[in-house]
Amino acid sequence: MNAKQLLRSKGSAAKLYKLSVRKVAIIGAGIIVLTLAKKLKGQMPGLLIDIFDKYSFPSSGTSIRDSGVLHAVLCYAKDRLKARFCREGTYTLSELIQKYGLPILNCGRLLVPHLHKNITNLLRKYTCAIDNGCDERIVDHDYARRVQPVIMPRDEYLWSHKTNVLDPEAVTNPLGMQIVDAGIVSIITKVLRVNSEEELLVTSKGVHRYDFIFNVAGPRSLDLYQRDTGRGIRHRLLPVLGQNVTIITGPEIRTSLYPVPDPEWPYLGIHITPGIRGSAIVKPNAVPIFRCNMDEIKMVEWRDF
Ligand SMILES: Cc1cc2nc3c(=O)[nH]c(=O)nc-3n(C[C@H](O)[C@H](O)[C@H](O)COP(=O)(O)OP(=O)(O)OC[C@H]3O[C@@H](n4cnc5c(N)ncnc54)[C@H](O)[C@@H]3O)c2cc1C
Repeated sequence: MNAKQLLRSKGSAAKLYKLSVRKVAIIGAGIIVLTLAKKLKGQMPGLLIDIFDKYSFPSSGTSIRDSGVLHAVLCYAKDRLKARFCREGTYTLSELIQKYGLPILNCGRLLVPHLHKNITNLLRKYTCAIDNGCDERIVDHDYARRVQPVIMPRDEYLWSHKTNVLDPEAVTNPLGMQIVDAGIVSIITKVLRVNSEEELLVTSKGVHRYDFIFNVAGPRSLDLYQRDTGRGIRHRLLPVLGQNVTIITGPEIRTSLYPVPDPEWPYLGIHITPGIRGSAIVKPNAVPIFRCNMDEIKMVEWRDF
C-alpha cells in the first residue's frame, strides 16, 4: 500500500487495519512520532511498530529543546486542521502532565503590540481565538502591569491566561517509556532512503520491508521524500540556528511576552519565556547557516558570530 491509498482511506488507524497493515515503520523519535505511535498502538494493539531515529530514543533534537510553551491561543481559522490538532494536542499534553505530575508553570502569555499596525493584527488574533472557543482577553496597561510589573505601556494587549510553560524533555520521557512498555521497538540508525512504492526502508544496517512507512523526521522529512519520489525538488530547507539568551539580572519575568505576529513576516518573533527552572530566556535570534550541516552543530557560542 502506498501513501496515496492511505490518504484516500483518510488515514485513520481503523482504515490501516482494514487495509491489512500489520507492520509499520516510523522515521523520527520526536514528540509527533511518540504521540503517533502511542495512538496507533492504542487503536491497533496487534500492530508491529518500529521507530527509527538517527541519534536517540526519544529524540534529542527539537522536541526536547524547544521553548516549551503550551499554547492555548488558537490563531488558526476554526475549520482548519491546525486548529483541531492544536486543541487536541494541548488537551493530551495537559492530561499527560497531570497524570505524571510533571512540572508546569502557569504563567500565561501577553501579546504586546510594537507598532500601530500590530493593533489590527492583535484584534484579528483575538477574534480568531474567540471563534475557536479560547478564553482570551483584551486587557489594558493597568491589567498588564499586574501580570508583568515591568512592561512597555500600550493601550491594548492580548492576555491568554491558559498558556503555560512546560519542560519538553520531562514530557518526552514518560511518552517514550509508555512506548517501550507497549512493545514498540526503537532502532537507532539513520534512514538513508525510503522506497514508498515497495515499502522499503534502507539504513546502514540493511534493508527493511514494511506494510507502511511514516516519514515523520521533522525538517529532514523533506530530504527523504525528495529522494524517494523525485518530487518537491524545488523546495529547499534554509537552516536557521536559533540562539537563546538567559536573563540573569533585570526585571522579574512573570509571564511569556510575545510580539504580535505579523502575517507579512510569518515568524514568531523574538519572545521572552519565564524559565520553568528559574531564569527567563529570550529567544530565538535566527541566524541562517550557509556553510555547514546543522546536524554537526553541537554548541555554538554567541561570540562565534
Ligand atoms: C526554536 C524552536 C522553539 C519552539 N518552541 C515551541 C514551543 O514553545 N511550543 C511548541 O508547541 N512548539 C515549539 N516549537 C515547535 C516544536 O518543537 C516542533 O513542532 C516539534 O518538536 C516537532 O517535532 P517532530 O517530532 O515533528 O520533529 P523533531 O523533534 O525534529 O524530530 C525529528 C526526529 O527525526 C530524526 N531524524 C531526522 N532524519 C532522520 C533520518 N534520516 N533517519 C532517522 N532519524 C531521523 C531526528 O534525529 C529527530 O529526532 C519550537 C521549534 C523551534 C525550532
